[in-house]
Amino acid sequence: MGKLKTQSLQKRDSDLANSNRQLEILSNGIFADGELPTFKTKISETNQFPLKAKKLEILQINVGYMCNQVCEHCHVDAGPDRKEIMTRETMQQILDVIKTTGAHTLDLTGGAPEMNPNFRWFVEEASKIGISDFIVRSNLTIIRANKKHYDLPDFFKKHNIHVVSSMPHWTRGKTDKQRGEGVFDMSITALQELNKRGYGMPDSGLKLDLVYNPNGAYLPGDQVTMEKDFKKALLEDFDIQFHNLFAITNLPIARFLDYLIASENYEDYMYSLVEAYNPAAVENVMCTNTLSVSWDGYLFDCDFNQMLALPVNSKSKHISEYKEELLEGRNIVISQHCYGCTAGAGSSCQGVVTD
Ligand code: SF4
Ligand code: SF4
Repeated sequence: MGKLKTQSLQKRDSDLANSNRQLEILSNGIFADGELPTFKTKISETNQFPLKAKKLEILQINVGYMCNQVCEHCHVDAGPDRKEIMTRETMQQILDVIKTTGAHTLDLTGGAPEMNPNFRWFVEEASKIGISDFIVRSNLTIIRANKKHYDLPDFFKKHNIHVVSSMPHWTRGKTDKQRGEGVFDMSITALQELNKRGYGMPDSGLKLDLVYNPNGAYLPGDQVTMEKDFKKALLEDFDIQFHNLFAITNLPIARFLDYLIASENYEDYMYSLVEAYNPAAVENVMCTNTLSVSWDGYLFDCDFNQMLALPVNSKSKHISEYKEELLEGRNIVISQHCYGCTAGAGSSCQGVVTD
């Protein structure tokens, strides 16, 4: 792959690498002086505060912040310099919990989850104890980044893993601008390799979905229209097929927050999110049926709260002390970044969340 576009905030010693600083920005200014309502005020208007966790269905595991890319808008602040990696011991604790919960889906994310040396072991062990619904959030380029990863499509197929891949655009220019030089070409090769195994084909059970997120300080367009455009362009230009496109809104945290501030778009962007607030989207935000586990085993309402170091509001704070009865019905921890999940048709890690 070519030149990396940027460095992680941590590597740059940016004050935004500190989650407290991010939370300060999100709480002060236009929200402190009442120019815009806080998320708590907004959801209170429709009696949706406090936001409550429902039955746990999905465990989203962040197996580490290391990534072969350094995308401009990464909410994880991931990159090759990030060394936080989940150990096999923590994975074992998660496996022990899976046996006792009703969670039916294991959603593996990172960084690039495939870079964790125990990634394959974890999937195999989870399969053995009955998990059959796996999601892997793959950046695609990892499949072509190193020969040791070339057989990942076969591994995904063997375990019927649902592959959810980031793909900001069907053109080289727009994709490489956001994700780094050379990313587009490697992503196309990886998608072709997945298609060869049957992934993304019209009647295939091997699910391949793409994730689109905007390149700048604006909200995504209509998901259905975009999916049609992506499908047409990728088929015509590269003979590539996939199932669904998820259009996700960039949340104002980590490197996207840094971008918003540096480009002097922060306030306008927050205005757009608040204006696009849709109370119907609140019901189904991902934190209501998902629990996020960090690389070191701590529990969060979602991957975004994990990055803001906002732990679950429960006595059960670590996977080693997991107690379903203490987590079910908990109050979700919210802040102004949550507006990113309720704008328009709603958005979380899975695109539109309402019908
Ligand atoms: S957005 Fe995904 S692929 Fe890009 S740096 Fe972050 S974790 Fe890596
Ligand atoms: S960021 Fe979204 S998923 Fe996370 S707590 Fe807020 S509303 Fe829920």
